[in-house]
Amino acid sequence: MNRKYRRPLIAGNWKMNKTPSETREFVTGFKAMLPKLRRCDIALCVPAVCIPAAVKGARDSRIAIGAQTCSAFASGAYTGEISAAMLKDAGCKYVILGHSERRAMGETDKNIHAKLLTALDSGLTPILCCGESPEQRELGVTEPWITMQLRAALAGIPPEKLRTVVVAYEPIWAIGTGQTATPDQAESVCAHIRAVLRKQYGAKTARAVVILYGGSMNGNNAAQLLAQPDIDGGLIGGASLDPQKLLCIVEAASCEAE
Ligand code: PEP
Repeated sequence: MNRKYRRPLIAGNWKMNKTPSETREFVTGFKAMLPKLRRCDIALCVPAVCIPAAVKGARDSRIAIGAQTCSAFASGAYTGEISAAMLKDAGCKYVILGHSERRAMGETDKNIHAKLLTALDSGLTPILCCGESPEQRELGVTEPWITMQLRAALAGIPPEKLRTVVVAYEPIWAIGTGQTATPDQAESVCAHIRAVLRKQYGAKTARAVVILYGGSMNGNNAAQLLAQPDIDGGLIGGASLDPQKLLCIVEAASCEAE
């Protein structure tokens, strides 16, 4: 990570895990474990029903709360959906958009673009996910695929808004598999992401964007991944469900930031 231009972020993605009561217990315990020095930003992206418990538990701490998706629409007859404005009002700072698990459930680049616009309009910080399948990596089309995903999601977003977007590179073959990308593999794609942003927005804007790596990051591999110049933090699935494991990653990011 380049500490001169960006602040590290460690964001947990709980997926469909933990109840509101478990959330309360987790946040209370995790808060007490955190190092005093605030060398990296921390977020927990929790299931929607856990947001009130997480926000309440994280009050007066450095833990920010996020959601895992939002509606593409501002309001209206969309049964079961939750708008970005509702998430913001409930106390969220972040929202994950375009996670591969949601793309696999039918979310398209067009949906993701619409969600990004409404998230930005509502003052949320989107964590925009992109990443290739194992087949795409095998075929050698990782970079053009990521370029396409980024261009589709970010179409028409002005530079001042782009600075508030976090991009997460999450190779699908590394998510929940224990098969982490090597630091070189992850850095190569994160550097490509920054190059795509630089081409479209210029060097000053591109160097301000926080780029995360996600895919089986844990306390053993975090330090090496976070030592790469274009990896500014992590989006953490499995390891974020255990406060001790998440703390190890926060500590790795905090050391890197020294
Ligand atoms: C994720 O789901 O965003 C993720 C990175 O999961 P895991 O850390 O479990 O691979």
